[in-house]
Amino acid sequence: MSLSPARVFAALNAVRPPERSAPVMGRAVVVGGSVAGLLAARVLSDHAESVVIIDRDEAQAPGERPGVPQGTQLHALLPGGFLQLEQLFPGFREQALAQGAIEAPPAARRNYLDGRLKVVVPDDADSLAGSRPLLEALIRQQVLRLPNVKTVTARATGLVFDGAVTTGVRYDVGGAPGVESADFVVDAMGRSSRLSDWLEQAGWDRPAMRRMTVNLNYATALFRRRETNPEFTVVLALHTPRLSSDVAGAAFFAVEDGRWMAMMAGYGENRPGRTAADFVRRLRDQFPPEFGAVAGNEMLGDVRTYHHADSRRRDFHALKRFPAGLVSVGDAVASFNPVYGQGMTAAALHAACLSAYLRSGPDLGATARRFFALQKVVVDAAWSTSTSADLALPHVEGPYPRGYRFSSWVSGQIVTATVTDVAVARRFNEVVSMREHPRSLAAPGVILGALLANRRSRRPATAR
Ligand SMILES: Cc1cc2nc3c(=O)[nH]c(=O)nc-3n(C[C@H](O)[C@H](O)[C@H](O)COP(=O)(O)OP(=O)(O)OC[C@H]3O[C@@H](n4cnc5c(N)ncnc54)[C@H](O)[C@@H]3O)c2cc1C
Repeated sequence: MSLSPARVFAALNAVRPPERSAPVMGRAVVVGGSVAGLLAARVLSDHAESVVIIDRDEAQAPGERPGVPQGTQLHALLPGGFLQLEQLFPGFREQALAQGAIEAPPAARRNYLDGRLKVVVPDDADSLAGSRPLLEALIRQQVLRLPNVKTVTARATGLVFDGAVTTGVRYDVGGAPGVESADFVVDAMGRSSRLSDWLEQAGWDRPAMRRMTVNLNYATALFRRRETNPEFTVVLALHTPRLSSDVAGAAFFAVEDGRWMAMMAGYGENRPGRTAADFVRRLRDQFPPEFGAVAGNEMLGDVRTYHHADSRRRDFHALKRFPAGLVSVGDAVASFNPVYGQGMTAAALHAACLSAYLRSGPDLGATARRFFALQKVVVDAAWSTSTSADLALPHVEGPYPRGYRFSSWVSGQIVTATVTDVAVARRFNEVVSMREHPRSLAAPGVILGALLANRRSRRPATAR
């Protein structure tokens, strides 16, 4: 019996301790040792005798690294992703806090929509704040503690097949080629993954790629933080197209080593905050007072910019022929407009899909169809949340799905109601933090709640 996407999503989110079973494979090889690859390796360590992670960057190198150029930019760990991490690595929270991550419970988070402060949802889930290199380093530490996981520093160059079965990964270290034999291979090479080329070269079909051009421009800067325990550790301010501002939004987080990390974003030709003076001025002039307070601190280093051209997904699930012993995870499968902060949480849910697939006792000599079917639920959910919001941006050209005008009107009502109504905000937060399937926002009770909340907030105070 096949389950509805909402039920699959709920099952993937159900908190349960990791489970180590008798190994069902010898060696698993993960190509790409960033967040998605590390989390896949964690899951595989329960099912393989050994796990090898191949990455072109030195594994131990702390901080920014060339293989993850987006690492300089502000990264939010959504509560859905935090829950998954705690599940995969019991005690993650305490260890993260001990190494400088900052607590971000609901009361320490502030959220503005077009300058209006949103209600706090007191029982919302917790999360943590920290720089992207810190979050990745914390995950890597936990994974490399596992006795059957090791890393190899090399550039993967292709796959080895025996008929329809994947049997190894080719790599190159300083011009010297090598092969890592494998019973199971995971592609976690990020959004520029070469897997499609490798498949095509070996006579397989490449997956169809869907794209939505967003042309997003990010700018991130660090500031000295004087407060050890600031009242608010995560503050976000989103501008909708209604506001006709050239800044789409800004955010700042308390991060490790006594710093604030602040970000602002614009679309298309708008590139706000590229110089230190412009960054500080805009934080002061165009955002609520908390932003000006952060901008009043000493800026540490330069403003770092990043251009993100498109959201994209590769539809592996739709391929008729696909080798056995091979899956793809993380941004290599789907990478979204980063303003919604979904990437690392989606990667964690892909790891949950891998766990569910391997627990189901699959035939590893056959294509991992059940894995791709589970993963499709996660990708569809994240894709619909991010692309339906992006379609409201004036410069995004579509494609518009059927019924878009109505669904966009309903979403607009729900988003507006999140400013004043705790129940609607609670459900909305569960969806955007990837703990609930987006369909739950289509429930009549949620839509009615949103309409009533918006009516109440439009009514003049004397008439209430
Ligand atoms: C500007 C920006 C902001 C973002 N903000 C957020 C956010 O707020 N929250 C969030 O959750 N996500 C965010 N993301 C997304 C997030 O960065 C990714 O989703 C996350 O890093 C998981 O990606 P990944 O592990 O699949 O791939 P990546 O992090 O891109 O890593 C790919 C890895 O593969 C390795 N690799 C690639 N090719 C080879 C090869 N041939 N051989 C060996 N190794 C190879 C690379 O060295 C790298 O380590 C943001 C992204 C961008 C661009």
